[in-house]
Amino acid sequence: MLFRQLFDEATWTYTYLIADPETNEAILVDPVAEQVERDLRILQELGLTLRYCLETHIHADHITGSGKLREITGCQSIVPANAKAACADRFIQDGEQVQMGSVHIEAIATLGHTDSHMAYLINGTHVLTGDSLFIRGCGRTDFQSGDSGAMFDSVTERLFTLPDDTLVYPGHDYKGETVSTIGEEKQWNPRFAGHNRDSFIDLMSNLKLPNPKKIMEAVPANERCGKVAVSA
Ligand code: FE
Repeated sequence: MLFRQLFDEATWTYTYLIADPETNEAILVDPVAEQVERDLRILQELGLTLRYCLETHIHADHITGSGKLREITGCQSIVPANAKAACADRFIQDGEQVQMGSVHIEAIATLGHTDSHMAYLINGTHVLTGDSLFIRGCGRTDFQSGDSGAMFDSVTERLFTLPDDTLVYPGHDYKGETVSTIGEEKQWNPRFAGHNRDSFIDLMSNLKLPNPKKIMEAVPANERCGKVAVSA
């Protein structure tokens, strides 16, 4: 499997490019609108055909590149079940799978950051955690239908039950880290290690984070697969 982690500096967002080197089919997970040209260039240079754009959730901090990529490449856009994005080609449910040549992707419902969030387990070895589990952190739960109790349950019951050596690739990182493992996060993640559900909820309600700069435009645009409304 070809596996690449790509970064958007403006929003600290990771996009993942995954491909089958035999069939040259590719999938992009959480593409960013401002990085579409970069993504197209890499696809072209590696001789890959984009089959799918897959979202972990409807983002509040950046506009998805999936709409533009679909227009240009004819790929399919896949979003989690219950996501408010009528423009998507397919809605993926918990436990559902996407098979693309030798690349096998399984959706794991990980609610909490939003009420329609999926992590994706790739070939049983790499888990893309979106904005649920971060490296030594987790996604926020204070807007967009966030729910701290659901986040605690998702991470401890769905992600921490994966094998310890599963590689963890988050949707963002704000400190320059790129990859971790489930075992490492169980031991060292300060949001979960030594916490129970109640103390986690308490911790999350006292973070007092500012809203993402792009929330007012990003959420409505992402509900339209990244199309920004043209104002009169
Ligand atoms: Fe998010």
